[in-house]
Amino acid sequence: SPSPIPAFKLNNGLEMPSIGFGCWKLDKSTAADQVYNAIKAGYRLFDGAEDYGNEQEVGEGVKRAIDEGIVTREEIFLTSKLWNNYHDPKNVETALNKTLKDLKVDYVDLFLIHFPIAFKFVPIEEKYPPGFYCGDGDNFVYEDVPILETWKALEKLVKAGKIRSIGVSNFPGALLLDLFRGATIKPAVLQVEHHPYLQQPKLIEYAQKVGITVTAYSSFGPQSFVEMNQGRALNTPTLFEHDVIKAIAAKHNKVPAEVLLRWSAQRGIAVIPKSNLPERLVQNRSFNDFELTKEDFEEISKLDINLRFNDPWDWDNIPIFV
Ligand code: NAD
Repeated sequence: SPSPIPAFKLNNGLEMPSIGFGCWKLDKSTAADQVYNAIKAGYRLFDGAEDYGNEQEVGEGVKRAIDEGIVTREEIFLTSKLWNNYHDPKNVETALNKTLKDLKVDYVDLFLIHFPIAFKFVPIEEKYPPGFYCGDGDNFVYEDVPILETWKALEKLVKAGKIRSIGVSNFPGALLLDLFRGATIKPAVLQVEHHPYLQQPKLIEYAQKVGITVTAYSSFGPQSFVEMNQGRALNTPTLFEHDVIKAIAAKHNKVPAEVLLRWSAQRGIAVIPKSNLPERLVQNRSFNDFELTKEDFEEISKLDINLRFNDPWDWDNIPIFV
């Protein structure tokens, strides 16, 4: 059986696997099997979200593995994310309950605020997940909900036993600072886009200094957004064929994907790569058997061009990263 994945200790004493399986864009028709197969391949953390529209299927895959005695619920680490339409404290529990029902569990291990953006509430019966729908055709409509109000609602759900750890995603430093001003429970995790083209050394340094565990998403840079036909990604050289990454990979007898993941791991950052292919499932979780050198790090640090692929500015000129 596959070797266990090392864990990070979060600031609340709980453990989180340092490698997980990303569930964004998993097709509903295959998601349950993919999750089940990932569990068989040794994955324990599943990074999902209300917005991914596949929590029922993710839950099905997990349930099958539990029913067959391959794992217990306690051995699985389920991450979900509160979507933008549910930031009002009175809607936070409604959204979480939907997630718990879909995943077929009575708690999630980690619940993140997906974006520091509050869209107008859309009832679950009207559209789920609502995506960019705010109840008014194609128009974006917002709600005046300070982040701290949403956070306090999450803290209550931790106390109620429905969430083990809470954290945030796509937050810049200023919003982390503000959260610290009023939070009773510190954010355990910060999940951000992170790859050689977007290294954010100061954000990572700050988060780690104050005890927040950082998780990288889109570790392979443009790849995930090329699949969505995003112009910015299509115009950016793939990291899999990048001379610098290829040379480092060749030197260590590895493939570029392993270098990209190992680079995060050596910065103390958790990763959640997504793949449909069995051989990549193995590759993406067994990259920790080599050491990038100081020179490798220096070479990779030169690739930083602060290039963000997942930017709400593209949605409606929302200025969270400006
Ligand atoms: P990713 O960087 O993991 O890239 C995924 C794509 O890379 C795959 O579809 C596949 O085509 C390719 N790939 C995977 N393994 C490979 C390998 N070993 N060799 C070559 N190609 C390989 O992209 P992602 O899905 O955007 O990010 C991972 C996860 O992060 C998501 O599934 C999701 O769970 C999470 N995420 C979170 C947010 C957020 O706002 N919090 C945003 C994006 C993604």
